[in-house]
Amino acid sequence: MIREKVAPAPASDVASTLLALRGVGKVFSNGVPALSDVNLTIREGDFLSLLGPSGCGKSTALRLIAGLSTPTSGVLDWRGGGSLDRSNIGFVFQEPTLLPWANVFDNVWLPLRLKGISRAKAAPAVTEMLARVHLSGGMKMRVSIARAMVTKPRVLLMDEPFAALDEITRFKLNNDLLELWQDERFTVVFVTHSVFESVFLSNRVVVMAARPGRVFDELAIEASYPRDEAFRTSPHYAALCRQASDVLVKAINSTAGAHHDGH
Ligand code: ADP
Ligand code: MG
Repeated sequence: MIREKVAPAPASDVASTLLALRGVGKVFSNGVPALSDVNLTIREGDFLSLLGPSGCGKSTALRLIAGLSTPTSGVLDWRGGGSLDRSNIGFVFQEPTLLPWANVFDNVWLPLRLKGISRAKAAPAVTEMLARVHLSGGMKMRVSIARAMVTKPRVLLMDEPFAALDEITRFKLNNDLLELWQDERFTVVFVTHSVFESVFLSNRVVVMAARPGRVFDELAIEASYPRDEAFRTSPHYAALCRQASDVLVKAINSTAGAHHDGH
């Protein structure tokens, strides 16, 4: 089947602001400053990655955007005021205990269950058989994405969705996610600690630093879509990754230098 595809406009051409974070901070009740003075504008149609080391507040930022948590300072300014209706936001977590996966597990467990075999006792056999029919981590994530997208949300929030997958599966899911994004033109905020993944997917990479969690720098990924395996092996991609990696190292050093704690 031949299908016409129109690449989304690059960031510079996307005029409309979907969400602006202004001076957003989050201090948890234990006093941990998870985020400090975050200023970030998310544009309609962006594929924006939040890239940073563990503990820099990526998940906290995503949860604030999702409305699952509220900032202790600053504002989240949705275009047109108010926050988007929950049905306009899809959320994909890395969590291994997702409901769709539980459903898959339960379906396969059923014949054993009818024989009186407990969930725990059945688990190794069920897991092995799922793996043998290649219904493994990647498929779980595909189900999670389908669940998040079935309402056609305007915004898809993804928290390290592919971190637990092997590289080949991760590449496939990266490709398929980009294809879906190009077809449906939703906005993605994608959390990752992988330089390679953020550069492959995004038109914008926002690099964060930790303690306190903050935006360190932002990179525009100047490469056209669709991006495919040819892009993945291109010198241009390698150069962009090197750039992003340099910024990430600076972000990490900015924390280590400030605290002298060896992290
Ligand atoms: P990331 O996702 O980048 O790894 P998080 O947003 O999970 O970072 O966490 C940022 C910081 O806030 C970390 O120091 C973490 O320990 C702390 N933190 C996260 N959630 C909570 C919470 N519910 N209560 C207290 N501290 C938290
Ligand atoms: Mg996290």
